[in-house]
Amino acid sequence: MSLRIVDLQVKEFNLPLVEPFVISLGTTYAAENILVSVELENGVTGYGEGAPFAYVTGETQQTAIKAVEAAKSLVVGKDAGAYRAIAADLARTFRVQTSARMAIEMAILDALTKSWGIPLYQFFGGVSDQVETDITIGIMPAAEAFDKAKYWAAQGFNHIKIKVGNDLAADVERVAAIHEAAPNCRLKVDANQGYTAKEALAFLHELDKRGIVIELLEQPVPAWDLKGLKFVTQNSTVPIAADESVFSSRDALHVAMEGAADVINIKLAKASVLDVVNIHAICQSYNLELMVGCMIESRLALSMAVHMVAGLGGFGYVDLDGFFSLAEEPIVGGFKQEAEVLSVGHVRAGIGAEPKEK
Ligand SMILES: [Mg+2]
Repeated sequence: MSLRIVDLQVKEFNLPLVEPFVISLGTTYAAENILVSVELENGVTGYGEGAPFAYVTGETQQTAIKAVEAAKSLVVGKDAGAYRAIAADLARTFRVQTSARMAIEMAILDALTKSWGIPLYQFFGGVSDQVETDITIGIMPAAEAFDKAKYWAAQGFNHIKIKVGNDLAADVERVAAIHEAAPNCRLKVDANQGYTAKEALAFLHELDKRGIVIELLEQPVPAWDLKGLKFVTQNSTVPIAADESVFSSRDALHVAMEGAADVINIKLAKASVLDVVNIHAICQSYNLELMVGCMIESRLALSMAVHMVAGLGGFGYVDLDGFFSLAEEPIVGGFKQEAEVLSVGHVRAGIGAEPKEK
């Protein structure tokens, strides 16, 4: 049956949160995502989710919806089997609308692999079918962070990610409280561009003085400040990860050639789907470590990320916890979760997740 794409639809996909999520860039009260569906001539429908977050991707829900609508002429009528050519076309025209592209590419690959009868983790390489995620604690008073860390450690989490970047002294207190509450958990720290290079080193020095060892520090300085990022990387023994500094494989190549970071944090919302494969290859070629992150996303986008990360392999740091903040579950299926382990080995075809309301 024909794999020709006959329809592309997009709508608002609003995800209320259990409680506001605070990072150095701002506070999120509800994720205003988008839901995309593509229909093939063979009757198969694929689903994709986009997570525009203005502070990071420079898009809003409404600009992302407009971008998907405007992309119809590049998608409808094409053969889904030509997914890489379609993705390249989209990247040329919608260069900065990465979450719109993410949703379209995801929906095409879901429909295609459903048609082929293979799960996406096998499409990506089948290295594994599961990942171990961390759990993130946002910016909040140290005492609250202490309670959260105790709770998550008791739930079986061994990795905690901590948001910092607003106030150096309070940041150190929060990390110390979490370390005390969950002494056996490995800690990642994410400043979301909130420090200068020297503040980042002062922060790391303070943790060092207290004997707190962290796994990595993510995006200490503004996204555009590659010199600052390199300065921190060269003056710290803690691995430094580039997140907002790397959207595309070109950005990744630049960071790799400059030696500006030790780790690259890849997200579907920044690189879309297929450019992730290019970034993965660059990191492996340059011996940079791989991390995967997410936005506040439902099990649809997060299941796609689990397929991708497990299938490609080689990711040392996994931060795919966006669904824990959701007040409602809008998706049927997707990964199975047991404490920190997310697995897709049971999926027979595609992503294996669908919206409850189509
Ligand atoms: Mg980050």
